Amino acid sequence: MLYQELALLFASTTGDRFLVMSIDDLRFCYDRGHSPVLDIPHWKVSAGEHIFLHGPSGAGKSTLLNLMAGTLLPSSGKIEILGKQLNKLSSGQRDKWRARHIGVVFQQFNLIPYLTADKNVQLAAYFAKTPNATQRAHELLAALGIKGNLRSQPASQLSIGQQQRVAIARALVNQPELLIVDEPTAALDRANRDTFMSLLLDQVQQQGTALVFVSHDQSLANAFTKVVALADINQAQGLR
Ligand code: ADP
Repeated sequence: MLYQELALLFASTTGDRFLVMSIDDLRFCYDRGHSPVLDIPHWKVSAGEHIFLHGPSGAGKSTLLNLMAGTLLPSSGKIEILGKQLNKLSSGQRDKWRARHIGVVFQQFNLIPYLTADKNVQLAAYFAKTPNATQRAHELLAALGIKGNLRSQPASQLSIGQQQRVAIARALVNQPELLIVDEPTAALDRANRDTFMSLLLDQVQQQGTALVFVSHDQSLANAFTKVVALADINQAQGLR
């Protein structure tokens, strides 16, 4: 992707690391008048970083990921993705922008059950108007081990591990600068979990994608370039 290549080139020539995300004085409350779930003075994610974000249940991890994806908007303060504040866009513009620049794999990976693996991935490319959608979907699925008959099976007939690999392909088909992943391994046994992790990390490495990966499973942390406890960046009281 031209934008990504230019950004990385710029970063390497200046010695500065290109910012994928930056947060300044971000506060988020679900209900007005209630204490915030998140109060993050500063946090940033640089190009190509692979961050393992952990914290206890209810700490605000999913809330933070939703703010990064622009599916929730800050109550105050600023969150910028690739220099853009998503709350300044209309919801339609935000959806288009997200499709183009952010890949998301959530715990319930929300494939369309009656569409084939191929079509689930192609649909994401179609929304983002990515060229060569069919070929890219095919290549990415193959790299993730979804080949032959599996590609043309409805998503509902794939195993959980296979569905999760299709979800990665769908999240990466538009070569996003940022990939957000929320508790993806909870339903996998150890062998499938290890395969999922190595395929995911191989792909983000190859594409130069920044990764923010949330899990409570600390045994996964070793594979990441940075490990962050939400409590270390979040000053909100009482929810840590
Ligand atoms: P985590 O992902 O770390 O488990 P969440 O971000 O899901 O935490 O939740 C953080 C806090 O916000 C919890 O106290 C949770 O109950 C609350 N919360 C989450 N979603 C909503 C919502 N839609 N409305 C009100 N409160 C919510």
